[in-house]
Amino acid sequence: MSLLIKNGEIVTSGDRFVADVYCEGETITRIGRGLEAPKDATVIDARGKYVFPGFIDPHVHIHLPFMGTYAKDTYTTASQAALVGGTTTLIEMVCPSRKDPVLKSYELWLGKAEGKSACDFTFHMGVSRYDDVVEAELNEIVKSGISSFKIFLAYKDFFGVTDQELSNVLRLAKRLGVIVTAHCENADLVFELQKRLLGEGKTGPKWHYWSRPPLVEAEGVHHLGTFAQMHGTHVYVVHTSCEESLHAALRARERGVNIWVETLIQYLTLDMRDAERPAFQGSKFVMSPPLRDVRNQEVFWNALRQGMVSTVATDHAPFDFKGQKDMGKADFTRIPNGIPSLEDRVTVLWTHGVDQGRLNLHQFVDCGSTQAAKLFGLFPRKGTIAVGSDADLVVWDAKYRGKITARKQHMNVDYNPFEGWAITGRPHAVTVRGEVAAKDGKFIGTIGRGKLIKRDPTHF
Ligand SMILES: [Zn+2]
Repeated sequence: MSLLIKNGEIVTSGDRFVADVYCEGETITRIGRGLEAPKDATVIDARGKYVFPGFIDPHVHIHLPFMGTYAKDTYTTASQAALVGGTTTLIEMVCPSRKDPVLKSYELWLGKAEGKSACDFTFHMGVSRYDDVVEAELNEIVKSGISSFKIFLAYKDFFGVTDQELSNVLRLAKRLGVIVTAHCENADLVFELQKRLLGEGKTGPKWHYWSRPPLVEAEGVHHLGTFAQMHGTHVYVVHTSCEESLHAALRARERGVNIWVETLIQYLTLDMRDAERPAFQGSKFVMSPPLRDVRNQEVFWNALRQGMVSTVATDHAPFDFKGQKDMGKADFTRIPNGIPSLEDRVTVLWTHGVDQGRLNLHQFVDCGSTQAAKLFGLFPRKGTIAVGSDADLVVWDAKYRGKITARKQHMNVDYNPFEGWAITGRPHAVTVRGEVAAKDGKFIGTIGRGKLIKRDPTHF
């Protein structure tokens, strides 16, 4: 099996040049001008198009038992959605609750992915309690090729860890050379505010924001930074939504804490007014932390340009409007949290980032792919275009004009948060390890070909 992508303009986080890319089997083996391919090779003419490394979404939920229901996607639907949108590798959160056994949970999540995914994948291992058994099992999981953890400072008594557990997880992570990703919100303050708002009869989706204001998130980031500093552990703040939290992370960094920041495509393009839409439509825009005041958007575009924010992810968590979001009709605290966007992250980042002059091409590749690969031990196998790297490539059609609509999406959910939005570019062809898996909005890949990508601890 060989693949030749001819005459494209190759763009990585650091380089930009016109060349052909030749792939033998699953790997890029030559990059140069005028490359020849055997007769049976697949040839894609990329003249007038960009060639980007496959995009990586470092924060995705697929199997997700949460708030009394389950997120809607399976690996079969989610990986198709990812690929059509240009994402060739995703990192899913394994989210066991405090009661669940750790190793068994990892095996459960892995079983939902293996043989069912069309794109490559790996996991952040969720840690929701800590004892000797958990520690031993985490050691095993890291040895098997999972080199990042996930902890929740929110969702007390379900996913959330105590401060003692937080400290233990960070100590273990430091010893193993593992990076810890963290959901940062002060659980007690959220609980208190929820009670107060509901007591005042404030039950609609728009009150979700007021139960988790910026300070509550910033406290979580500061808290994480303090504990990370004690242990010297590398930490990564997931779904950073507001200036207050960004500042808390940057202040920690100034003190020497090894802290990285992720934001989401939703925070860059949607805002709290979406959760105020009438007729309970606002529930489609309920996630945690909540969508923020619109002024935060330029703060984050700026921070991306300056490298203060490393990655743009989705926290993809699809719950139907009918039958799931409406569980919270009388009480916003019962609305399943999540705004689906795995399929549209890259095209929306292109349209609102590159096309509107907020990001250059290198920054687009960097925050959409390369940084995630570097932080989570996938680089240079993923996240760049180089001889020896996996042939995960996105041939980008910048002349495409179209509209996002739930009717045509591959995600298994009954709405799209970007419904009706114009898109000014999309993948023409997407390859996973040398096989063309999507073309012009259509999935043509192979379900089950996606692989678990094993990662060594990074240690930095
Ligand atoms: Zn998440």
